[in-house]
Amino acid sequence: MPFDQLSSKLQDVFKQLKGKGKLTEKDLKVALREVKLALLEADVNFKVVKNFIKTIEERAVGQEVMESLTPGQQVIKIVNEELIALMGSTQSKLTFATRGITTIMMVGLQGAGKTTTSAKLAALIKSQGKRPLLVACDVYRPAAIEQLTKVGKQVNVPVFSMGIDVNPVDIAKASMEYAKENNFDVVLIDTAGRLHIDEVLMDELKCIKSSLKPQEILLVVDAMTGQDAVNVAEAFDNALGLDGVVMTKLDGDSRGGAALSVKAVTNKPIKYVGMGEKLGDLEPFHPERIASRILG
Ligand code: GDP
Repeated sequence: MPFDQLSSKLQDVFKQLKGKGKLTEKDLKVALREVKLALLEADVNFKVVKNFIKTIEERAVGQEVMESLTPGQQVIKIVNEELIALMGSTQSKLTFATRGITTIMMVGLQGAGKTTTSAKLAALIKSQGKRPLLVACDVYRPAAIEQLTKVGKQVNVPVFSMGIDVNPVDIAKASMEYAKENNFDVVLIDTAGRLHIDEVLMDELKCIKSSLKPQEILLVVDAMTGQDAVNVAEAFDNALGLDGVVMTKLDGDSRGGAALSVKAVTNKPIKYVGMGEKLGDLEPFHPERIASRILG
C-alpha cells in the first residue's frame, strides 16, 4: 500500500531521535537528511521535499525544541504538522450552488478513472439526498457513453447522452436544460479523456467551462503514475483552473508521492481518493489521517 515504505523509514529515523536525550544540531541534520531521502524515494516532488525539509529545520532548530525534555517528540510533532499542511490542512469539500443546479465538470486523461469516478461521485452525492444527473460528453470513444451508461445504472443515477454526432459543448448545454426540466440539482459532466494533453482537448474543456460556469472542475489523476500525475495537474490547472483533484488507485502499490505533492505544486487540494474499482470505493481525502498513518 502507498505510504507503507515511507512510513517504516520515517519511523526508523524517529525511533533513533527519540532514543537520544538532548538533540544537537548535528543530530537533527542527520535525521532530516534521512527524512529527505525517504520522501524522495516515495517519489515526492524534489522542490516540495526541499521546502518541506527547510521548514522543519527552521522550526526545529528553535531553542524550545532542542532544549525541551523530549526533543525527538517535538520534531515528530513538527513533521506531523507540516505533513498535514503539505496536503492542505483540512478536508476540502465540494462547493454546491446556493441556488439552482450545481455543475461539476470531471476532467482528466484517458485511463485515469474519470468515468468510474464520475459514477462514484454521483452515488456519493445521491446518498446525501441530492438528485444527480450524469452527462456523457466524451464523443470520441463510442464505448465511453456505453461505459457511463453502465456505471450510471449500477449506482442508479440517470445518464444524459446525445450520441457521438453532437458537439460536446451542445450536449453539455442541453443537459442543463434537461436537468432543469426534470428537477435534477447536480449535473456531473464526464468530459472526453485523451491520451495526451493537447490544445484541442483543452479548448473543448474551456468552451464547456465558459458556457456552463461550473461550481467545480475536478481533475481525476491516477496515483500510480507518480510525478506524471502532478505534471498533469499542473498543466490542467494552468489551462483551465481547477477546483480540486480526485486521486484514483490509491489502493494500488503507488509510493504515495503524488498524493503528497499535488497540493504543494498546484495549490489545489485533493478532495477525494479512489480506493478500489467498486463504485462505493470513493473517500473524502483527510490530510491528518494520512499524516498519522505515515508517522504511525
Ligand atoms: P477513464 O478513461 O479516465 O474514464 O477511466 P475509467 O473510469 O474507465 O477507469 C480506468 C480503469 O481504472 C478501470 O479499470 C477502473 O476500474 C480502474 N479504476 C478507476 N478508479 C480506480 C481506483 O480507485 N482503484 C482501482 N484499483 N482501480 C480504479
